[in-house]
Amino acid sequence: MKIITLPLDMQKTALALRRAGKRIGLVPTMGFLHEGHLSLIKLARLQADVVVLSIFVNPTQFGPNEDFSRYPRDFERDRALCKTAGVDIIFNPAPEAMYSSRYSVYVEENVLSKGLCGASRPGHFRGVLTVVAKLFNLTLPDIAVFGQKDAQQARLIQQMTHNLNFPVTIVLAPIIRESDGLAKSSRNMYLSPAERREALCLQQALQTARRLYHEGERDAQRIIAAMKAGIEQIPSARVDYIAIVDRDTLHSAPRLDTPVLVALAVYIGKTRLIDNLTLPDDALSNLPE
Ligand code: AMP
Repeated sequence: MKIITLPLDMQKTALALRRAGKRIGLVPTMGFLHEGHLSLIKLARLQADVVVLSIFVNPTQFGPNEDFSRYPRDFERDRALCKTAGVDIIFNPAPEAMYSSRYSVYVEENVLSKGLCGASRPGHFRGVLTVVAKLFNLTLPDIAVFGQKDAQQARLIQQMTHNLNFPVTIVLAPIIRESDGLAKSSRNMYLSPAERREALCLQQALQTARRLYHEGERDAQRIIAAMKAGIEQIPSARVDYIAIVDRDTLHSAPRLDTPVLVALAVYIGKTRLIDNLTLPDDALSNLPE
């Protein structure tokens, strides 16, 4: 397994691989890897000859009051996990190598990025799309794998890839969960034992939505109200948003007559967690019964 830190070294290596006819699979991450990331690596290995995993805590996608500096980092642990998982190249650039002091070009999306997490995290998706575009140009992937855990991000990356004509196939990976159903996230390590128990309210709210849907409820406001009522019972929980949106346009869906995404962000203490479910259920969310 190779470790590359300089962007131009990464690009040269990727060019040589492409010229040798290799299919490159990219798995972009911010590190502190867990089984969610490992499932993305597995998918990439199925469809590519060479798997590049990037580890980059991208400063441009964090707001001024967010957790950029305290975001968990453990390169040695990540390196060992990557080796076992069959990663061929770790690309681990320094922030200054990706964004020089004179850096001034950003990728902005103006429709799909406005609601959901985009409304509570202004500038977040501009940072995400910018770094993913840069990673595409540096690693020259045939395919790139993203998790449904970040459903809006995945939708935006599909849109960017399509609108900017990147020759990359986007592969979507199902949400990987802890045994009790909590969606795996590097941020779960911020939770105290009590908060960790209370964090189950996100998935319980999604289960409520699914149950009501199966009972025939199609009114989005009634489903959202039931989800909210459940979360409000939990002392450490504060709803950031609960939304039911069209899966494709991400516009608010008043009724669940067409495919929708049920998405929520909830603060558990100081930690903001997200989760989601598609209805009709297509197994991407892996939500327990
Ligand atoms: P992150 O390191 O949190 O930025 O995530 C890197 C990639 O892993 C993104 O495409 C995420 O959607 C994906 N990912 C994170 N957590 C999970 C999970 N629990 N299941 C599936 N994919 C995940």
